[in-house]
Amino acid sequence: MKNTTSSAERMAEDSRGKTDGINAQPTKASHVLHRSLLADPATVVSASGSYINLSTGQRILDGCTGAAVAIIGHGSEEVQSAVRDQMAKVSYAHTLAFTTSAAEDLADMLLRNKPHGLCKAYFVCSGSEAMDSALKLARQYHVERGQPQRTRIVARQQAYHGNTIGAMSVGSNVARKAPYMGVLTLPNVSHVSPAYTYRSQLQGETEESYAARLVQELDHEFRSLGPENVMAFVAETVCGATLGCATAPRGYFQGVRRLCSQYGILLILDEVMCGSGRCGTYFAFEQEGDGVYPDLLTLGKGLGGGYSPIAGVLVHEKVVGGLRQGSGSFVHGHTYQAHPVACAASLAVQRVLERDDLVRRCAVKGEWLEGALRRELGGRRFVGDVRGRGFFWALEFVADKASKEPFSPEVHFSGRVRDEAQRLGLAVYPGTGTVDGTRGDHIIVAPPYNVSDAELEDVVRLLKEAYEVVEKEVAAEMTP
Ligand SMILES: *Cc1c(COP(=O)(O)O)cnc(C)c1O
Repeated sequence: MKNTTSSAERMAEDSRGKTDGINAQPTKASHVLHRSLLADPATVVSASGSYINLSTGQRILDGCTGAAVAIIGHGSEEVQSAVRDQMAKVSYAHTLAFTTSAAEDLADMLLRNKPHGLCKAYFVCSGSEAMDSALKLARQYHVERGQPQRTRIVARQQAYHGNTIGAMSVGSNVARKAPYMGVLTLPNVSHVSPAYTYRSQLQGETEESYAARLVQELDHEFRSLGPENVMAFVAETVCGATLGCATAPRGYFQGVRRLCSQYGILLILDEVMCGSGRCGTYFAFEQEGDGVYPDLLTLGKGLGGGYSPIAGVLVHEKVVGGLRQGSGSFVHGHTYQAHPVACAASLAVQRVLERDDLVRRCAVKGEWLEGALRRELGGRRFVGDVRGRGFFWALEFVADKASKEPFSPEVHFSGRVRDEAQRLGLAVYPGTGTVDGTRGDHIIVAPPYNVSDAELEDVVRLLKEAYEVVEKEVAAEMTP
């Protein structure tokens, strides 16, 4: 209980932080239940390209696209016109009896040529719903195949999969789960170590042997549960908000895939944050080596690019086949699933991605971004690690680089970098609890894929300026 209160207070404190002046609000009390009851967020009045404009007149360069969402930036004319056209044609159709060309065309585009055996798409409104849908598909698949004893789910520590009860249960973001533990969490979930090279690869251990050690731990977990009792293993291909852009060591996902196939356990890859091109390939798992594929894959943030609340599960033909030979229908459904306007917006976003070759740009300019972050910030006193892929990068902050000792949460290091950056006109995405759910700080940089070269340089420059201010302040607080 005490824990809960202090984390809530910390969150309030974080958001109150030092944003006075930025958050000048009308005096009337808001009727919106904001994330914090103690401070109102700034009001966005318009947004276009890589910039967000606030009611105070401040213009902010969007260096993180919210939470890695606005992949083609803000205000796209193409998306606006696609949404208008769809609204004029058909704004809603219930999926029990109907489908629309918007949903069909979006699924066609994503699953053209059956990528890696993925052959059906299930569209919902959020990444959390997509994760719950994937879990239900996994469960129903085993039930229909006469294996109802498969009730166990294995996931990883320091993972975020969403905030609905199912998604939160497989996730392990300590702060977001604390008040609900044991009451609104599923009991049939266990967690193994994440792939966290910076802190967990041992001295003298190669990347491959670190990967092998993690796979062995997973094998041990499967065996101790009885592999015939496990329905799915769930992982973010590249970790997102909780661990901060941590990539797996070479060979890890190949080992994971082998184990899952060997035991008949379904592999659910959560690419809500790292997918849709964010890492420089459309699916993040495509960089994990030959033979790696998911049985179920979730997409979200970049799927709608912020233009519509949409997420999806892409389903492997094996799972579709299992259901087809069983009851022939997925026992699930939502009022707004495959919503035509949401699908039309998403389709327009995906078309811009393809037309402008933006995933490739993300890969190419991502290398520049990596170099710039390492050069400008990697050597700094409190920057312990720079990691990521494509346009998905994190800096992990530590109080002591040699021992990797994190800051105590009271320092609010990442929150202060975020606040300072925002004051300077840059949005970055902060994270806390990086190390163990309680301690540790990182910030995520995730610009739009079509950010201009000059804007990208500004992202790095402003971030460096913000970091320097906080470094100076915190260094002064540390000297007794
Ligand atoms: C954001 C996120 C989710 C949840 O998506 P919502 O749209 O916020 O429900 C799930 N998984 C990952 C990896 C995410 O980053």
